[in-house]
Amino acid sequence: MAVETIFSKIIRREVPADIVYQDDLVTAFRDIEPQAPIHILIIPNIFIATINDVKPEHEQTLGHMIIVAAKIAKQESIVYDGYRLIMNCNQHSGQEVFHIHMHLVGGHHLGPLLTKNE
Ligand code: 5GP
Repeated sequence: MAVETIFSKIIRREVPADIVYQDDLVTAFRDIEPQAPIHILIIPNIFIATINDVKPEHEQTLGHMIIVAAKIAKQESIVYDGYRLIMNCNQHSGQEVFHIHMHLVGGHHLGPLLTKNE
């Protein structure tokens, strides 16, 4: 059975995080180990473990995550230079936290999308 993660506690503000945006559907906060000058995680307030667990009733929330990503990019002044949105699913992607999240990364040139593993 799926169990909630540290992200649920961040949503409920039971553990500290640098929250940059929150509304009824989503919460966004700075990643604790940033991989770029700007690295923000956008997550649904409801618990969904992986992209494989997304149901039709989640459509509004998932779409809203992208609307919020664009809003935050504007807040962070990176809309012109650009940025990248990433969602990982399961082991091969390197997903570590099993509460779906969108990484918003930017603030410098990000390089190629993927590096080839030998
Ligand atoms: P994943 O690899 O699952 O796509 O990404 C999980 C992300 O969550 C990682 O970039 C990691 O640094 C971040 N993270 C994990 N635990 C915490 C935490 O407690 N607080 C914050 N702000 N970020 C976290």
